[in-house]
Amino acid sequence: MKKGRGELLFYGAVALLFFLFLQFGNRAVTVLSENQPVPRENCVIIDPGHGGVDGGATSCTGKLESAFNLEISLRLNDLMNLLGYDTKMIRTTDISVYTKGETIAQKKISDLKERVRIMEETENALVLSIHQNNFSDHQYSGAQVFYPNTPGSAELAKEMQSAFISHLNPGSRRQVKKAEGVYIMEHISCPGVLIECGFLSNPREEAALRSPEYQKNLCCVIAATAAGFLSNT
Ligand SMILES: [Zn+2]
Repeated sequence: MKKGRGELLFYGAVALLFFLFLQFGNRAVTVLSENQPVPRENCVIIDPGHGGVDGGATSCTGKLESAFNLEISLRLNDLMNLLGYDTKMIRTTDISVYTKGETIAQKKISDLKERVRIMEETENALVLSIHQNNFSDHQYSGAQVFYPNTPGSAELAKEMQSAFISHLNPGSRRQVKKAEGVYIMEHISCPGVLIECGFLSNPREEAALRSPEYQKNLCCVIAATAAGFLSNT
Protein backbone atom coordinates (compact mmCIF):
# COMPACT_ATOMS: atom_id res chain seq x y z
CA MET A 1 0.00 0.00 0.00
CA LYS A 2 2.73 2.41 0.99
CA LYS A 3 4.87 1.47 -1.97
CA GLY A 4 1.96 2.06 -4.35
CA ARG A 5 1.44 5.54 -2.97
CA GLY A 6 5.13 6.36 -3.39
CA GLU A 7 5.04 5.16 -6.97
CA LEU A 8 1.97 7.27 -7.61
CA LEU A 9 3.67 10.36 -6.27
CA PHE A 10 6.75 9.77 -8.38
CA TYR A 11 4.78 9.00 -11.51
CA GLY A 12 2.51 11.93 -10.85
CA ALA A 13 5.40 14.32 -10.38
CA VAL A 14 7.06 13.29 -13.62
CA ALA A 15 3.81 13.47 -15.57
CA LEU A 16 2.88 16.78 -14.03
CA LEU A 17 6.18 18.40 -14.95
CA PHE A 18 5.67 17.12 -18.47
CA PHE A 19 2.22 18.65 -18.65
CA LEU A 20 3.43 21.88 -17.11
CA PHE A 21 6.06 22.08 -19.78
CA LEU A 22 3.58 21.34 -22.56
CA GLN A 23 1.06 23.82 -21.29
CA PHE A 24 3.08 26.63 -19.91
CA GLY A 25 6.36 26.14 -21.75
CA ASN A 26 9.04 28.64 -20.97
CA ARG A 27 7.22 30.20 -18.05
CA ALA A 28 7.08 26.88 -16.17
CA VAL A 29 10.75 26.23 -16.92
CA THR A 30 11.66 29.71 -15.67
CA VAL A 31 9.70 29.23 -12.46
CA LEU A 32 11.30 25.84 -11.82
CA SER A 33 14.85 26.91 -12.73
CA GLU A 34 14.73 30.01 -10.57
CA ASN A 35 13.52 27.83 -7.76
CA GLN A 36 10.82 30.29 -6.90
CA PRO A 37 8.63 29.15 -4.06
CA VAL A 38 5.11 28.21 -5.06
CA PRO A 39 2.76 30.74 -3.48
CA ARG A 40 1.38 29.14 -0.35
CA GLU A 41 -1.36 31.57 0.47
CA ASN A 42 -3.88 29.75 -1.70
CA CYS A 43 -5.84 26.80 -0.45
CA VAL A 44 -7.08 24.32 -3.00
CA ILE A 45 -10.34 22.75 -1.86
CA ILE A 46 -10.89 19.38 -3.45
CA ASP A 47 -14.52 18.37 -3.37
CA PRO A 48 -15.25 14.73 -4.22
CA GLY A 49 -18.92 14.91 -5.22
CA HIS A 50 -21.54 12.87 -3.34
CA GLY A 51 -20.60 10.13 -0.82
CA GLY A 52 -22.29 8.14 1.94
CA VAL A 53 -26.08 8.18 1.62
CA ASP A 54 -25.71 9.92 -1.74
CA GLY A 55 -23.89 7.69 -4.23
CA GLY A 56 -24.55 9.94 -7.22
CA ALA A 57 -24.88 8.21 -10.59
CA THR A 58 -24.31 4.49 -11.09
CA SER A 59 -21.88 3.41 -13.81
CA CYS A 60 -22.65 0.85 -16.53
CA THR A 61 -20.81 -1.77 -14.45
CA GLY A 62 -22.56 -0.83 -11.22
CA LYS A 63 -19.87 1.29 -9.56
CA LEU A 64 -21.08 4.42 -7.79
CA GLU A 65 -20.07 7.87 -8.96
CA SER A 66 -19.10 8.76 -5.37
CA ALA A 67 -16.34 6.12 -5.49
CA PHE A 68 -14.91 7.39 -8.79
CA ASN A 69 -14.99 10.94 -7.42
CA LEU A 70 -13.12 9.96 -4.27
CA GLU A 71 -10.40 7.96 -6.03
CA ILE A 72 -9.69 10.77 -8.48
CA SER A 73 -9.81 13.43 -5.73
CA LEU A 74 -7.29 11.58 -3.54
CA ARG A 75 -4.86 11.41 -6.47
CA LEU A 76 -5.46 15.09 -7.22
CA ASN A 77 -4.80 15.96 -3.59
CA ASP A 78 -1.42 14.16 -3.75
CA LEU A 79 -0.44 16.07 -6.87
CA MET A 80 -1.43 19.49 -5.51
CA ASN A 81 0.50 18.79 -2.28
CA LEU A 82 3.48 17.71 -4.36
CA LEU A 83 3.37 21.10 -6.08
CA GLY A 84 3.46 22.79 -2.70
CA TYR A 85 -0.15 23.88 -2.43
CA ASP A 86 -2.17 23.67 0.73
CA THR A 87 -5.26 21.59 0.18
CA LYS A 88 -8.46 20.77 1.98
CA MET A 89 -10.41 17.63 1.13
CA ILE A 90 -14.16 17.87 1.73
CA ARG A 91 -14.13 14.11 2.41
CA THR A 92 -11.46 11.41 2.33
CA THR A 93 -13.75 8.41 2.83
CA ASP A 94 -17.18 7.31 1.63
CA ILE A 95 -19.23 9.66 3.77
CA SER A 96 -21.81 12.37 3.38
CA VAL A 97 -20.86 15.54 5.25
CA TYR A 98 -24.37 16.45 6.44
CA THR A 99 -24.78 17.83 9.94
CA LYS A 100 -28.54 17.42 10.22
CA GLY A 101 -31.56 15.86 8.55
CA GLU A 102 -33.78 12.82 8.94
CA THR A 103 -34.56 11.85 5.37
CA ILE A 104 -32.02 11.28 2.62
CA ALA A 105 -33.27 14.41 0.84
CA GLN A 106 -32.71 16.51 3.98
CA LYS A 107 -29.27 14.99 4.49
CA LYS A 108 -28.33 15.80 0.87
CA ILE A 109 -29.29 19.44 1.39
CA SER A 110 -27.37 19.61 4.67
CA ASP A 111 -24.36 18.00 2.95
CA LEU A 112 -24.30 20.65 0.20
CA LYS A 113 -24.66 23.49 2.72
CA GLU A 114 -21.83 22.09 4.82
CA ARG A 115 -19.55 21.87 1.77
CA VAL A 116 -20.31 25.51 0.92
CA ARG A 117 -19.68 26.52 4.53
CA ILE A 118 -16.22 24.90 4.46
CA MET A 119 -15.42 26.57 1.13
CA GLU A 120 -16.63 29.98 2.27
CA GLU A 121 -14.71 29.91 5.56
CA THR A 122 -11.44 29.22 3.69
CA GLU A 123 -9.40 32.24 2.67
CA ASN A 124 -8.05 32.46 -0.88
CA ALA A 125 -9.74 29.23 -1.83
CA LEU A 126 -9.86 27.60 -5.22
CA VAL A 127 -12.56 24.92 -5.48
CA LEU A 128 -12.08 21.84 -7.62
CA SER A 129 -15.29 19.85 -7.50
CA ILE A 130 -14.98 16.36 -8.95
CA HIS A 131 -17.94 14.59 -10.56
CA GLN A 132 -18.77 12.09 -13.29
CA ASN A 133 -21.33 12.44 -16.04
CA ASN A 134 -24.08 10.02 -16.97
CA PHE A 135 -26.52 9.95 -19.88
CA SER A 136 -29.12 7.63 -21.36
CA ASP A 137 -27.36 7.60 -24.75
CA HIS A 138 -24.20 5.54 -24.22
CA GLN A 139 -22.21 7.08 -27.06
CA TYR A 140 -21.41 10.34 -25.26
CA SER A 141 -17.93 10.72 -23.80
CA GLY A 142 -15.33 13.27 -22.73
CA ALA A 143 -14.58 15.51 -19.78
CA GLN A 144 -16.52 18.74 -19.41
CA VAL A 145 -15.83 21.72 -17.16
CA PHE A 146 -18.54 23.85 -15.52
CA TYR A 147 -17.93 27.21 -13.86
CA PRO A 148 -19.65 29.46 -11.33
CA ASN A 149 -20.14 33.18 -11.71
CA THR A 150 -17.09 34.08 -9.61
CA PRO A 151 -13.87 35.91 -10.57
CA GLY A 152 -11.54 33.91 -12.80
CA SER A 153 -13.67 30.78 -12.93
CA ALA A 154 -14.72 31.03 -16.59
CA GLU A 155 -11.09 31.56 -17.63
CA LEU A 156 -9.90 28.59 -15.56
CA ALA A 157 -12.68 26.43 -17.00
CA LYS A 158 -11.71 27.33 -20.57
CA GLU A 159 -8.02 26.55 -19.93
CA MET A 160 -8.91 23.23 -18.35
CA GLN A 161 -11.35 22.25 -21.08
CA SER A 162 -8.81 22.91 -23.81
CA ALA A 163 -6.14 20.99 -21.84
CA PHE A 164 -8.52 18.01 -21.59
CA ILE A 165 -9.08 18.11 -25.34
CA SER A 166 -5.35 18.47 -26.10
CA HIS A 167 -4.08 15.81 -23.70
CA LEU A 168 -6.91 13.44 -22.87
CA ASN A 169 -9.90 13.59 -25.21
CA PRO A 170 -8.55 14.42 -28.68
CA GLY A 171 -11.32 15.35 -31.08
CA SER A 172 -13.79 16.13 -28.28
CA ARG A 173 -16.06 19.06 -29.05
CA ARG A 174 -17.21 19.51 -25.47
CA GLN A 175 -17.28 23.10 -24.33
CA VAL A 176 -17.31 24.78 -20.95
CA LYS A 177 -20.70 25.59 -19.48
CA LYS A 178 -21.97 27.87 -16.77
CA ALA A 179 -22.97 25.76 -13.77
CA GLU A 180 -26.62 26.72 -13.55
CA GLY A 181 -28.74 25.10 -10.87
CA VAL A 182 -25.70 23.52 -9.20
CA TYR A 183 -26.04 24.43 -5.52
CA ILE A 184 -22.35 24.59 -4.59
CA MET A 185 -21.36 26.53 -7.69
CA GLU A 186 -24.18 29.03 -7.10
CA HIS A 187 -23.27 29.64 -3.46
CA ILE A 188 -19.50 30.08 -3.40
CA SER A 189 -17.76 33.42 -3.80
CA CYS A 190 -14.26 32.13 -4.61
CA PRO A 191 -13.02 30.87 -7.99
CA GLY A 192 -13.71 27.25 -8.81
CA VAL A 193 -14.76 24.70 -11.38
CA LEU A 194 -16.90 21.60 -11.38
CA ILE A 195 -15.28 18.90 -13.47
CA GLU A 196 -17.38 16.14 -14.99
CA CYS A 197 -14.42 13.83 -15.67
CA GLY A 198 -16.23 11.58 -18.11
CA PHE A 199 -19.37 9.55 -18.82
CA LEU A 200 -20.08 6.55 -16.60
CA SER A 201 -22.71 5.51 -19.16
CA ASN A 202 -20.12 4.98 -21.92
CA PRO A 203 -18.55 1.50 -21.46
CA ARG A 204 -15.20 2.49 -22.99
CA GLU A 205 -14.88 5.66 -20.95
CA GLU A 206 -16.14 4.00 -17.78
CA ALA A 207 -13.39 1.37 -18.11
CA ALA A 208 -10.83 4.14 -18.56
CA LEU A 209 -12.16 6.06 -15.56
CA ARG A 210 -11.75 2.94 -13.41
CA SER A 211 -8.07 2.57 -14.39
CA PRO A 212 -5.35 4.15 -12.23
CA GLU A 213 -3.47 5.26 -15.36
CA TYR A 214 -6.36 7.27 -16.76
CA GLN A 215 -7.13 8.71 -13.34
CA LYS A 216 -3.51 9.89 -13.05
CA ASN A 217 -3.67 11.51 -16.48
CA LEU A 218 -6.90 13.27 -15.57
CA CYS A 219 -5.34 14.57 -12.37
CA CYS A 220 -2.26 15.80 -14.21
CA VAL A 221 -4.42 17.92 -16.50
CA ILE A 222 -6.46 19.29 -13.59
CA ALA A 223 -3.44 19.96 -11.35
CA ALA A 224 -1.36 21.57 -14.08
CA THR A 225 -4.20 23.87 -15.12
CA ALA A 226 -5.02 24.79 -11.53
CA ALA A 227 -1.35 25.49 -10.80
CA GLY A 228 -1.13 27.68 -13.89
CA PHE A 229 -4.21 29.59 -12.78
CA LEU A 230 -2.91 30.09 -9.25
CA SER A 231 0.49 31.26 -10.46
CA ASN A 232 -1.29 34.04 -12.36
CA THR A 233 -3.44 35.26 -9.48
ZN1 LIG B 1 -22.21 14.12 -9.52
